[in-house]
Amino acid sequence: MTDCIFCKIAEGKIPADIVYQDDQVVAFRDLNPQAPLHLLVIPRQHFATVADMSQTDMALVGHMHWVGLELARQAGVVEDGFRTVINCNADGGQSVYHLHLHVLGGRQMTWPPG
Ligand code: IMP
Repeated sequence: MTDCIFCKIAEGKIPADIVYQDDQVVAFRDLNPQAPLHLLVIPRQHFATVADMSQTDMALVGHMHWVGLELARQAGVVEDGFRTVINCNADGGQSVYHLHLHVLGGRQMTWPPG
């Protein structure tokens, strides 16, 4: 999508602090981190929300989680704990309409989320 900021990051058209990429996903540091580790894992393919995906797309969601886990492991936060989040639509708190997985760690998380 031409006006999607995360598509532009995936295409290298605008800068981001990229920590991992492969043929399916790109992972980069969140611009406004909510924890010492706050990464976003996005698919290269544009999906506005997770609700726009079909069952056959779910392997991609699994890959996003696998990448998030590996990056959390590399950051050394797995033993103490970390959180992965996909916000969906307005009530879910989504602000950027290109699917992304938040990977948060390095501090005690609270529940329920705000
Ligand atoms: P959402 O609220 O789940 O949609 O999360 C969007 C996230 O994208 C927020 O945590 C923002 O801080 C982050 N964000 C927005 N623009 C950029 C950017 O250009 N680079 C990195 N992170 C961004």
